[in-house]
Amino acid sequence: MDHLPVFLDVKNRKIVVCGEETIAARRVEASLRAGANVHLFAKNPGGEFHKHLTHKSLVHHQREATAKDLDGALIAYGASEDAEENKRLYHLAKAQDILANVADVTEYCDFITPSVIDRNPLVVAISSSGNAPILARILRARIESMLPASYGRLAKFAGGFRDRVMKHIAKPEGRRNFWEQVIDGSVGDLFMAGDEDQAAEKLLIQLDEAANEKEIAKKGAVFLVGAGPGDPDLLTFRALRLMQRADVVVYDRLIGDDIMGFVRRDAERIYVGKMPNQHTMLQEDISQLLVDLAKQGKNVLRLKGGDPFIFGRGGEEMDLLAENNIPFQVVPGITAASGCSTYSGIPLTHRDHAQSCVFVTAHGKDGVLELDWNNLVQPAQTVVVYMGLSSLGILMEQLARHGADPKTPAAVVDKGTRPDQRIVTGTIEDLNEKVQAAGFDGPSMIIIGSVVTLREKLRWFGATDDQEHSFSLTARDDL
Ligand code: SAH
Repeated sequence: MDHLPVFLDVKNRKIVVCGEETIAARRVEASLRAGANVHLFAKNPGGEFHKHLTHKSLVHHQREATAKDLDGALIAYGASEDAEENKRLYHLAKAQDILANVADVTEYCDFITPSVIDRNPLVVAISSSGNAPILARILRARIESMLPASYGRLAKFAGGFRDRVMKHIAKPEGRRNFWEQVIDGSVGDLFMAGDEDQAAEKLLIQLDEAANEKEIAKKGAVFLVGAGPGDPDLLTFRALRLMQRADVVVYDRLIGDDIMGFVRRDAERIYVGKMPNQHTMLQEDISQLLVDLAKQGKNVLRLKGGDPFIFGRGGEEMDLLAENNIPFQVVPGITAASGCSTYSGIPLTHRDHAQSCVFVTAHGKDGVLELDWNNLVQPAQTVVVYMGLSSLGILMEQLARHGADPKTPAAVVDKGTRPDQRIVTGTIEDLNEKVQAAGFDGPSMIIIGSVVTLREKLRWFGATDDQEHSFSLTARDDL
């Protein structure tokens, strides 16, 4: 290791910054955030300083720093565009043994300013020891996207109990075990799910158990998690975290291998979808399975396609869990309608086309669709149909019979958001025929309404000339 990583307490300490542009502004900002008294030496500070110049802990000097200005300073930052000025500051600082840092000049740096992920009070700092600051910055962005904002709050929450835990659990090892169980266990889960009161209550119970050297009773829980429509990039932070905490995962057909790849490696996997020549497991049996597994003390991850509360029967599973007093939490996911809409360039609402949008399921009994047809054929409305692929023909026929214009634009998005997504557009009149010809096998989403024509306008986003081909609006960033 070339440097010793430390986090300095600079509260009410003097920090000198020289410079007028971006780097100096960043140094000022970070120093002020950490509670330092900042002396800025800048003749013409740029616009980025506008909110700092009036900060009560900042003194602005419109001149160069002198040796006397450095008296009592802890750090001197040379962040000027003028290399000579930085060098001069460095030597002034060294004469008084003050820690100095000149941006981008390793030989004039007593320390490195790391790339920082700030989830106050939780802070992650990364350094490449001056070798590749850009690599450190890229890494920072990656870690940034992995750390939910709520980790900062969790750190604060834990901090609030630190003294009490210190008093009740004498051995450092006991405290370490305790905190591991709290943060990576049900207390952490409750807190991250937004239930701070219950989390605190549970923490105190566990503290009592740990202080009396009792084994913390492991109680099972169920995480009902929406995994989105297929693209793993659409998972939420919370979904990812709980996927890593599962002892067992219960999943079905809508969950692809890509998504399963994010579940903890050693979690047991139970498939409850349809197998060739076999019946799907009954909903009642799935709900009961969740209860039984949780009663064995396991963390049960119930992974659902899209959102658990949109045609996901999440409500039914939740009912049985509640009846059995099993702790559970529900995590929303991006529903298939939303994923298919954005990934196919068909907005579901638009000022000129549709002011409302209805989600319906075409999963009827014995091929008979019990839908409120009159409600579906309203003007200026988009209709999105889940589970409609096998009854697409009847669906289109019924809409026309109930007064919809046969020329109404309509589309089917097959395997939306996945790498093999395909789209067919047409009208109520000809959509079924086109979809049959394309041989879609689902999961598929039907979108009906004039918003479908907007796909044409959005083609510049990277669509190919072939209308049948898929494209992804998210690919826009790469263009
Ligand atoms: N809870 C899920 C829906 C479950 S119902 C959600 O919120 O998305 C299953 C239906 O969802 C499928 O029959 C299909 O109509 C739709 N669906 C799910 N994933 C899809 C995908 N990737 N592309 C298109 N439709 C999808």
